[in-house]
Amino acid sequence: MEDIVICSKCETPQKRVKLKKGERAICYYCGSELYKYIPRLREKILVSSLSGFLMMLLGLIFPILQFNIGGMSKDFNLIDTIKFLIENGYLVVGVFTLFSVVLFPLIFFFLVIKLNFLADKKALEIITHLQEWMAFDIFVVGILVAMIKIFSYGEIMFSVGFVGFIGAFIALFFLTSIVKVEYYWELYYKNV
Ligand SMILES: [Zn+2]
Repeated sequence: MEDIVICSKCETPQKRVKLKKGERAICYYCGSELYKYIPRLREKILVSSLSGFLMMLLGLIFPILQFNIGGMSKDFNLIDTIKFLIENGYLVVGVFTLFSVVLFPLIFFFLVIKLNFLADKKALEIITHLQEWMAFDIFVVGILVAMIKIFSYGEIMFSVGFVGFIGAFIALFFLTSIVKVEYYWELYYKNV
C-alpha cells in the first residue's frame, strides 16, 4: 500500500516517488494528478498533535464546568464529570465519554507526536486503526451525550478547562479529517 499509488482516473498502479517543494506526482499514463506536496505538512502535524495533547491535559487538570446545585457551586474537571455521570447511573454514557473524549484522543495525539520523531510501525498501525473508526464525529457525539445528561442536573457554567477542550477539538479535526492516512505513512518513511 505504501509504495504503490493507484491513479484514481485510469486505475493504473505506479510506484510512489518522493516529492519536493511545489511538486505534484502525475500519472504516467493519463496525466492526472496522483498526489501533491503539502507545504510544511510535517510541522503542521507536529504542532497540531502537540497542542492537541496539551489542550487535552488542560481540560483534565482545570475545571471544565461549574455546577450550581442547591446554592452551592462546585468545579468539575473532565474526570470529575465522568465520575459524576457514572455515580448517577449513567455508566454507559460515562464509559463512552471516557473512551471517546479522553482516552482515544490522548492516545492518538501521543502516537502522532511519537511518529514525528520515530519510525514506530506499531504507532503507525494504531493511528491507522484509530483514524478509521474513532474519527472526529465520535468525539463530538461523546461530548454532546455527556452534556445533555449533565445539563439536566441544574445550573451549569463553562470554566477555563473548556477552552482546552475546544482546542483539542480543532486539533483532532485537523488530524483525522484533513490529514489523510497516507500522510502518516509518509511521515513514517521519512524517519525510517
Ligand atoms: Zn492515470
